[in-house]
Amino acid sequence: MSPVRVRFAPSPTGYLHVGGLRTALFNFLFARAQKGKCILRFEDTDQSRKAQGAEENLLSSLAWAGIEFDEGPTQGGEVGPYVQSKRLELYQSHVEQLLSQENAYPCFCSEEELTAMREEQIAKKQPTRYDGRCRRLSKEARAKKLAQGLPHVIRMKIIHSKGDYKVEDQIRGAVFFKPAQIDDQVILKSDGYPTYHLASVVDDHLMGITQVIRGEEWLPSTPKHIQLYEYFGWQAPQWLHLPLLLNPDRSKLSKRQGDVATADYKNKGYLPEALINFVALLGWNPGDGREIFSLEELIQEFGVERVGKAGAVFDVQKLLWMNQKYIQQMEVSELAKRLGPFLPPAAQSIEENQLLKMISLVREGMQLLSEIEERLDLFLNQSPDIKEAALKEKLKEEKPQAVLQAFLQAAQDKENVAGDQFKALMKEVQQASGCKGKDLWTPLRIALTLVEQGPDLAQVVEIFGHKKCVEMVKKQIL
Ligand code: GLU
Repeated sequence: MSPVRVRFAPSPTGYLHVGGLRTALFNFLFARAQKGKCILRFEDTDQSRKAQGAEENLLSSLAWAGIEFDEGPTQGGEVGPYVQSKRLELYQSHVEQLLSQENAYPCFCSEEELTAMREEQIAKKQPTRYDGRCRRLSKEARAKKLAQGLPHVIRMKIIHSKGDYKVEDQIRGAVFFKPAQIDDQVILKSDGYPTYHLASVVDDHLMGITQVIRGEEWLPSTPKHIQLYEYFGWQAPQWLHLPLLLNPDRSKLSKRQGDVATADYKNKGYLPEALINFVALLGWNPGDGREIFSLEELIQEFGVERVGKAGAVFDVQKLLWMNQKYIQQMEVSELAKRLGPFLPPAAQSIEENQLLKMISLVREGMQLLSEIEERLDLFLNQSPDIKEAALKEKLKEEKPQAVLQAFLQAAQDKENVAGDQFKALMKEVQQASGCKGKDLWTPLRIALTLVEQGPDLAQVVEIFGHKKCVEMVKKQIL
């Protein structure tokens, strides 16, 4: 068995789609688990779809997610270049080979002709595909058109006399395609660029790819690829088509129903660990119901035997739940680092230990890193106030007012309100107000943390210090 070599081959047309992230991750995990190599290749032969900055965007999203490649456009490698537009001569020579073997032919049909053909097929309720008229041209007619220099593309021949095409897929078993369903695919365009089909087959072969792991949407293209391998006399790789990603309503995952760019998740405050963990479970499962996996654990556990063929639902609620879990579990100093881009400017003047204390107090229940600004407002704002009107009302009643008054009274002769001093103070408040339990704590909780259920009161008070506590309580006294 040759050593495992897999590839992630995105087209730089914009951003890294979460479906692409899943493909990249499964390739990466497979390679690591099999002690093989994972290769990155940019498939940029469709010049019209090339987008400015797309390559950088792909690289930065993959790096953020922690997916590493052994060979690729930035790291190089022995079978490069790893960008298809730098390999044009290779594709041209392979097209020449197919032409000389009569496995491919020039097609002179114009756009108008092709459109008319399509419309006619639709009207007749036939499947729309190239009807092979240039494939049937006589040698002389073909030579004449070529000599005239007529613009043309090159199409590969699909064989109709051999029965169904069979794709032996490692995830879904044998899948059959009728030759009549398969187009004589264009492999070289009139601009001299190959199409994806030819370029990816040539590259997968020359780069020694042993398994092609990609999304299910490429399954119908695979018979064409298999035919190309046959024409070249090469051994085809194994095929693994990953299940589709679905919206919760089971339609195909789309922008309209939520974010699909990896960078959107980064910008919204998801941790890469959580997104990777979540994406790993889109189509794969460990078989025992476990859900939380670090990247290292995924490498240990991942196997294609447990990749299913049923579409996988992209459930953002579950992702939020995971993100919250990772936020809670993370070492607080590490969390502070990750929160960096989301911290408000005022956080910069806070002494580090103090900031860490604040973060550990407010991280409870936090689902997104981007919530930090609002949550730190309690500490960073000199005089924050209660947002919820009903809570403010609650404090206007008799008992809460008594508690707040007693607090002010008791705080007057204390120098600080931290630790034991706070305990003593609360005892005094209890005695003076005659309130205990909820009646005692809730009004102070609301006045000082601005919510009914929030961070630990004693610790909040300690961070606030005497002056701010007094000011905040005063504000709620009628
Ligand atoms: N360039 C194709 C894409 O953008 C890659 C398909 C494949 O993996 O063969 O998804």
